[in-house]
Amino acid sequence: MKTKYNVDENGFYGQFGGAFIPEMLYPNVEELKENYLKIMAESSFQEEFNDLLQQFVGRPTPLYFAKRLSEKYNTKIYLKREDLCHTGAHKINNTIGQILVAKRLGKTRIIAETGAGQHGVATATVCALMGLECIVYMGEVDIKRQAPNVARMKMLGAEVRPATSGSKTLKDATNEAIRDWINNPIDTFYIIGSVVGPHPYPDMVARFQSVISKEIKTQLLAQEGKENPDYVIACVGGGSNAAGAFYEFLEEEAVKLIAVEAAGHGVDSGESAATSVLGKIGIIHGSKTLLMQTEDGQITEPYSISAGLDYPGVGPLHAHLHDTSRAEFIAITDSEAMQSGLEISKTEGIIPAIETAHAFSVLDKKQFLPTDIVVINLSGRGDKDLNTYIDYFKFSE
Ligand SMILES: *Cc1c(COP(=O)(O)O)cnc(C)c1O
Repeated sequence: MKTKYNVDENGFYGQFGGAFIPEMLYPNVEELKENYLKIMAESSFQEEFNDLLQQFVGRPTPLYFAKRLSEKYNTKIYLKREDLCHTGAHKINNTIGQILVAKRLGKTRIIAETGAGQHGVATATVCALMGLECIVYMGEVDIKRQAPNVARMKMLGAEVRPATSGSKTLKDATNEAIRDWINNPIDTFYIIGSVVGPHPYPDMVARFQSVISKEIKTQLLAQEGKENPDYVIACVGGGSNAAGAFYEFLEEEAVKLIAVEAAGHGVDSGESAATSVLGKIGIIHGSKTLLMQTEDGQITEPYSISAGLDYPGVGPLHAHLHDTSRAEFIAITDSEAMQSGLEISKTEGIIPAIETAHAFSVLDKKQFLPTDIVVINLSGRGDKDLNTYIDYFKFSE
């Protein structure tokens, strides 16, 4: 039984987690809490989940030995290729899992919130796959900023509803989704996109994403003759790709875990998303965790050039990994990440998502031994970020 870094029966990781929700939401969350482990353990569920991961998502994703990068940094670097998943990132591992849970709970209507639109697209994709109604809440500002993803969601048959209150971004979309859920408790399932939200969401999402570290173990055994690497490195927004890449190694203390956050214009610039450095304990989206806030507890607007890391909190698992020093947290600025994105493209022929590019910057921050096996979770591909790369590097001039 894994307990030291995993969730306890009350939904806590050390002092973080739990379910701090309005009373009106209690029946929905309780229904999920009572059923998710049972459903996930059913052999018919396992079969359908694994079959879809294989046939629809394209798993297992390769664990690719990055030869030129390894030579350059004089260590052994492997890339876990989540960028090759259908829809271009790891997020679909989770949305497939949650929609299968929703179906088994008899739900017919799916809601989600999205910031940059990546989780919205992953949710709209699985709703199309299953023929379920899909409503995605998105801030009005984000709808303008992320037009291609809005178009994708619409093509996939989802309704995109604008959130028009507050800063008209992710947190406002989340508020709208929660309001919808309260008003539609019977037929609606809320698909959350990262290891955040009230218990049992962080645990459920981590379990769905844990396929990443399960595959890493099998693949390393085949390629290196041992299951465990020396390091696993992953970027952290809410923390789902990192949770998936770390999951099977959490209790293997010899495996060093590195979580990479977005420093934006710099940790002390007032424009960043380096939650573990700047965050204090508070409650966000129903979970007690570290979050960036003002002295009187108002959530601070986060900033990062990568939309997927632009989140003011971090999942409770990661808050616990930070608290216990089980994982090392490193903050990477916009400009460091952009340079790494360019470097990986030229060195390995892989254009990474800007989120993922942050994880690569660790290669310039830390010294690894020639014998070290370093696994970097390549959470997503850079197609969605091409305009940001073009503007930043002035490719159109
Ligand atoms: C959404 C996203 C992230 C950040 O989300 P996590 O839950 O922290 O994984 C990272 N990389 C990519 C490519 C994403 O799309």
